[in-house]
Amino acid sequence: MSCLLQVRGLVKIFGALVATNDLHLQVMPGEVHALIGPNGAGKSTLVAQLAGELAPDSGSILFEGLDITNLPVPERVARGIVRSFQITSIFPQFSALTNVSLAVQARAGHSFKFWRDASTDPTLREPAQALLDQVGLGVRGNVPAGELAYGEQRQLEIAMALATKPHLLLLDEPLAGMGREEARVIVDLLRRLRGGPTILLIEHDMDVVFSIADRITVLVYGTAIATDRPDAIRANAEVQQAYLGG
Ligand code: ADP
Ligand code: MG
Repeated sequence: MSCLLQVRGLVKIFGALVATNDLHLQVMPGEVHALIGPNGAGKSTLVAQLAGELAPDSGSILFEGLDITNLPVPERVARGIVRSFQITSIFPQFSALTNVSLAVQARAGHSFKFWRDASTDPTLREPAQALLDQVGLGVRGNVPAGELAYGEQRQLEIAMALATKPHLLLLDEPLAGMGREEARVIVDLLRRLRGGPTILLIEHDMDVVFSIADRITVLVYGTAIATDRPDAIRANAEVQQAYLGG
Protein backbone atom coordinates (compact mmCIF):
# COMPACT_ATOMS: atom_id res chain seq x y z
CA MET A 1 0.00 0.00 0.00
CA SER A 2 1.36 3.42 -0.81
CA CYS A 3 1.76 6.12 1.83
CA LEU A 4 -0.82 8.78 2.50
CA LEU A 5 1.82 11.10 3.88
CA GLN A 6 5.53 11.04 3.34
CA VAL A 7 7.81 13.43 5.23
CA ARG A 8 11.31 13.55 3.81
CA GLY A 9 14.19 15.08 5.71
CA LEU A 10 12.26 17.92 7.29
CA VAL A 11 14.44 20.57 8.94
CA LYS A 12 13.14 23.55 10.90
CA ILE A 13 15.58 25.82 12.69
CA PHE A 14 14.70 28.46 15.28
CA GLY A 15 17.83 30.54 15.86
CA ALA A 16 20.36 28.12 17.31
CA LEU A 17 17.79 25.39 17.87
CA VAL A 18 17.06 22.62 15.38
CA ALA A 19 13.40 21.80 16.11
CA THR A 20 12.95 19.18 13.39
CA ASN A 21 16.20 17.62 12.32
CA ASP A 22 16.17 15.55 9.14
CA LEU A 23 12.80 14.14 10.13
CA HIS A 24 11.44 11.26 8.05
CA LEU A 25 7.95 9.85 8.55
CA GLN A 26 5.50 7.73 6.60
CA VAL A 27 1.82 7.59 7.46
CA MET A 28 -0.29 4.86 5.86
CA PRO A 29 -3.91 5.37 4.79
CA GLY A 30 -6.47 4.57 7.48
CA GLU A 31 -4.09 4.21 10.40
CA VAL A 32 -4.06 5.93 13.76
CA HIS A 33 -0.42 6.99 13.91
CA ALA A 34 0.78 8.34 17.24
CA LEU A 35 3.73 10.67 17.60
CA ILE A 36 5.42 10.55 20.99
CA GLY A 37 8.56 12.04 22.45
CA PRO A 38 9.78 14.28 25.26
CA ASN A 39 8.73 17.92 25.61
CA GLY A 40 10.54 20.00 23.03
CA ALA A 41 11.15 17.02 20.72
CA GLY A 42 9.59 18.91 17.81
CA LYS A 43 6.15 17.23 17.66
CA SER A 44 4.14 20.45 17.42
CA THR A 45 6.68 21.95 15.02
CA LEU A 46 6.16 18.96 12.73
CA VAL A 47 2.37 19.36 12.89
CA ALA A 48 2.67 23.08 12.11
CA GLN A 49 4.74 22.23 9.05
CA LEU A 50 2.24 19.57 7.95
CA ALA A 51 -0.66 21.97 8.40
CA GLY A 52 1.20 24.65 6.45
CA GLU A 53 1.55 27.16 9.28
CA LEU A 54 5.35 26.91 9.36
CA ALA A 55 7.59 26.63 6.30
CA PRO A 56 10.38 24.08 6.60
CA ASP A 57 13.97 25.22 6.06
CA SER A 58 14.58 22.10 4.01
CA GLY A 59 13.02 18.76 3.23
CA SER A 60 9.69 17.98 1.62
CA ILE A 61 6.18 16.78 2.39
CA LEU A 62 4.29 14.52 0.00
CA PHE A 63 0.58 14.04 0.56
CA GLU A 64 -1.34 11.59 -1.63
CA GLY A 65 1.63 11.60 -3.95
CA LEU A 66 1.66 15.39 -4.37
CA ASP A 67 4.41 17.68 -3.11
CA ILE A 68 2.58 20.04 -0.72
CA THR A 69 5.70 21.50 0.93
CA ASN A 70 4.88 25.01 -0.26
CA LEU A 71 1.08 24.92 -0.33
CA PRO A 72 -0.72 27.49 1.83
CA VAL A 73 -3.05 26.35 4.63
CA PRO A 74 -6.40 26.69 2.79
CA GLU A 75 -5.18 24.61 -0.12
CA ARG A 76 -4.05 21.88 2.27
CA VAL A 77 -7.46 21.95 3.95
CA ALA A 78 -9.09 21.66 0.52
CA ARG A 79 -6.89 18.62 -0.17
CA GLY A 80 -7.94 17.01 3.09
CA ILE A 81 -5.08 17.72 5.49
CA VAL A 82 -6.52 19.48 8.47
CA ARG A 83 -5.95 19.93 12.14
CA SER A 84 -8.55 20.33 14.80
CA PHE A 85 -8.45 23.90 16.16
CA GLN A 86 -7.43 25.25 12.76
CA ILE A 87 -10.10 25.76 10.13
CA THR A 88 -12.17 28.30 11.93
CA SER A 89 -12.16 29.01 15.57
CA ILE A 90 -15.44 28.52 17.35
CA PHE A 91 -17.89 31.44 17.24
CA PRO A 92 -18.93 31.49 20.91
CA GLN A 93 -22.23 33.34 20.40
CA PHE A 94 -23.44 30.95 17.68
CA SER A 95 -25.01 27.60 18.48
CA ALA A 96 -22.97 24.41 18.20
CA LEU A 97 -25.09 23.45 15.18
CA THR A 98 -24.42 26.76 13.42
CA ASN A 99 -20.69 26.44 14.08
CA VAL A 100 -20.61 23.00 12.45
CA SER A 101 -22.72 24.19 9.52
CA LEU A 102 -20.28 27.04 8.93
CA ALA A 103 -17.44 24.51 8.78
CA VAL A 104 -19.46 22.40 6.32
CA GLN A 105 -19.92 25.47 4.12
CA ALA A 106 -16.28 26.49 4.45
CA ARG A 107 -15.36 23.10 3.02
CA ALA A 108 -17.80 23.65 0.14
CA GLY A 109 -15.90 26.86 -0.65
CA HIS A 110 -18.67 29.36 -0.01
CA SER A 111 -17.47 32.85 0.68
CA PHE A 112 -18.50 34.39 3.97
CA LYS A 113 -21.22 36.68 2.65
CA PHE A 114 -23.11 33.73 1.18
CA TRP A 115 -23.05 31.68 4.36
CA ARG A 116 -26.50 30.49 5.25
CA ASP A 117 -28.27 29.78 8.51
CA ALA A 118 -28.45 26.09 9.37
CA SER A 119 -31.57 26.58 11.51
CA THR A 120 -33.67 27.42 8.45
CA ASP A 121 -32.06 25.20 5.83
CA PRO A 122 -32.39 21.40 6.13
CA THR A 123 -29.65 20.78 3.55
CA LEU A 124 -27.27 22.40 6.04
CA ARG A 125 -28.91 21.25 9.24
CA GLU A 126 -28.88 17.53 8.47
CA PRO A 127 -25.15 17.07 7.80
CA ALA A 128 -24.30 19.39 10.70
CA GLN A 129 -26.57 17.43 13.05
CA ALA A 130 -25.04 14.14 11.86
CA LEU A 131 -21.58 15.44 12.74
CA LEU A 132 -22.76 16.57 16.19
CA ASP A 133 -24.27 13.10 16.72
CA GLN A 134 -20.99 11.52 15.64
CA VAL A 135 -18.94 13.41 18.24
CA GLY A 136 -21.54 12.90 20.99
CA LEU A 137 -22.96 16.42 21.01
CA GLY A 138 -26.25 15.50 19.33
CA VAL A 139 -28.42 16.95 22.10
CA ARG A 140 -26.33 20.11 22.52
CA GLY A 141 -26.84 21.57 19.05
CA ASN A 142 -28.87 24.57 20.18
CA VAL A 143 -26.48 25.61 22.94
CA PRO A 144 -24.29 28.64 22.19
CA ALA A 145 -20.79 27.26 21.68
CA GLY A 146 -19.39 29.60 24.32
CA GLU A 147 -21.66 28.01 26.95
CA LEU A 148 -20.47 24.45 26.24
CA ALA A 149 -18.16 22.83 28.79
CA TYR A 150 -14.44 22.76 27.97
CA GLY A 151 -14.48 19.14 26.82
CA GLU A 152 -17.62 19.73 24.76
CA GLN A 153 -15.90 22.60 22.94
CA ARG A 154 -13.07 20.22 22.01
CA GLN A 155 -15.71 17.74 20.73
CA LEU A 156 -17.24 20.58 18.71
CA GLU A 157 -13.85 21.42 17.21
CA ILE A 158 -13.44 17.79 16.13
CA ALA A 159 -16.91 17.92 14.53
CA MET A 160 -15.85 21.10 12.69
CA ALA A 161 -12.64 19.44 11.52
CA LEU A 162 -14.64 16.39 10.34
CA ALA A 163 -16.97 18.75 8.45
CA THR A 164 -14.08 19.48 6.09
CA LYS A 165 -13.98 15.76 5.16
CA PRO A 166 -10.32 15.34 6.10
CA HIS A 167 -8.18 12.55 4.71
CA LEU A 168 -5.59 13.25 7.41
CA LEU A 169 -6.67 14.65 10.76
CA LEU A 170 -3.89 16.18 12.87
CA LEU A 171 -4.56 16.14 16.61
CA ASP A 172 -1.96 17.84 18.80
CA GLU A 173 -2.66 16.84 22.41
CA PRO A 174 -6.45 16.66 22.14
CA LEU A 175 -6.73 15.69 25.84
CA ALA A 176 -4.73 18.67 27.13
CA GLY A 177 -6.36 20.40 30.07
CA MET A 178 -9.08 17.80 30.47
CA GLY A 179 -10.29 15.98 33.52
CA ARG A 180 -10.53 12.20 33.53
CA GLU A 181 -14.15 12.03 32.42
CA GLU A 182 -13.77 14.58 29.61
CA ALA A 183 -10.65 12.77 28.40
CA ARG A 184 -12.51 9.45 28.36
CA VAL A 185 -15.19 10.95 26.10
CA ILE A 186 -12.55 12.12 23.61
CA VAL A 187 -10.70 8.78 23.69
CA ASP A 188 -13.97 6.95 22.98
CA LEU A 189 -14.60 9.38 20.13
CA LEU A 190 -11.14 8.71 18.67
CA ARG A 191 -11.86 4.98 18.81
CA ARG A 192 -15.15 5.52 16.94
CA LEU A 193 -13.32 7.50 14.25
CA ARG A 194 -11.38 4.38 13.29
CA GLY A 195 -12.19 3.60 9.68
CA GLY A 196 -12.71 7.32 9.02
CA PRO A 197 -9.89 9.75 8.40
CA THR A 198 -6.29 8.75 8.93
CA ILE A 199 -5.19 10.28 12.23
CA LEU A 200 -1.83 11.65 13.33
CA LEU A 201 -2.12 11.90 17.10
CA ILE A 202 0.25 13.58 19.52
CA GLU A 203 -0.51 12.48 23.06
CA HIS A 204 1.40 12.29 26.33
CA ASP A 205 -0.79 9.69 28.03
CA MET A 206 0.99 6.45 27.12
CA ASP A 207 -1.99 4.29 28.17
CA VAL A 208 -4.08 6.13 25.57
CA VAL A 209 -1.36 5.97 22.92
CA PHE A 210 -0.63 2.29 23.36
CA SER A 211 -4.33 1.40 23.42
CA ILE A 212 -5.44 3.24 20.26
CA ALA A 213 -2.44 3.66 17.95
CA ASP A 214 -1.85 1.27 15.06
CA ARG A 215 1.72 2.52 14.80
CA ILE A 216 3.86 4.84 16.86
CA THR A 217 6.72 7.11 15.87
CA VAL A 218 9.16 8.24 18.55
CA LEU A 219 10.66 11.68 18.11
CA VAL A 220 13.79 12.70 19.99
CA TYR A 221 15.59 16.00 19.38
CA GLY A 222 13.65 16.55 16.16
CA THR A 223 14.50 13.17 14.65
CA ALA A 224 12.28 10.10 14.32
CA ILE A 225 14.26 7.33 16.03
CA ALA A 226 11.70 4.56 15.54
CA THR A 227 8.35 3.79 13.90
CA ASP A 228 6.63 0.53 14.72
CA ARG A 229 3.61 -1.23 16.15
CA PRO A 230 2.93 -0.50 19.83
CA ASP A 231 4.28 -3.81 21.17
CA ALA A 232 7.52 -3.39 19.20
CA ILE A 233 7.90 0.22 20.36
CA ARG A 234 7.42 -0.89 23.96
CA ALA A 235 10.15 -3.51 23.51
CA ASN A 236 12.58 -1.21 21.65
CA ALA A 237 15.68 -0.69 23.81
CA GLU A 238 16.63 2.60 22.18
CA VAL A 239 13.13 3.98 22.78
CA GLN A 240 13.16 2.74 26.36
CA GLN A 241 16.37 4.57 26.99
CA ALA A 242 15.48 7.77 25.15
CA TYR A 243 11.94 8.23 26.28
CA LEU A 244 9.99 5.59 28.12
CA GLY A 245 12.46 5.75 30.98
CA GLY A 246 12.91 2.13 31.71
P1 ADP B 1 6.99 19.43 21.33
O1 ADP B 1 5.65 19.72 20.70
O2 ADP B 1 7.54 18.10 20.95
O3 ADP B 1 6.97 19.60 22.82
P2 ADP B 1 7.84 21.79 19.89
O4 ADP B 1 7.72 21.41 18.47
O5 ADP B 1 6.78 22.66 20.46
O6 ADP B 1 8.05 20.49 20.79
O7 ADP B 1 9.21 22.55 20.12
C1 ADP B 1 10.46 22.05 19.65
C2 ADP B 1 11.53 23.03 20.03
O8 ADP B 1 11.39 24.19 19.21
C3 ADP B 1 11.43 23.50 21.47
O9 ADP B 1 12.74 23.64 21.97
C4 ADP B 1 10.73 24.83 21.36
O10 ADP B 1 11.10 25.69 22.41
C5 ADP B 1 11.23 25.34 20.02
N1 ADP B 1 10.26 26.21 19.33
C6 ADP B 1 9.03 25.84 18.92
N2 ADP B 1 8.42 26.86 18.29
C7 ADP B 1 9.29 27.91 18.29
C8 ADP B 1 9.26 29.25 17.79
N3 ADP B 1 8.18 29.71 17.13
N4 ADP B 1 10.33 30.02 17.99
C9 ADP B 1 11.43 29.55 18.63
N5 ADP B 1 11.53 28.29 19.13
C10 ADP B 1 10.48 27.48 18.97
MG1 MG C 1 3.78 20.20 21.48
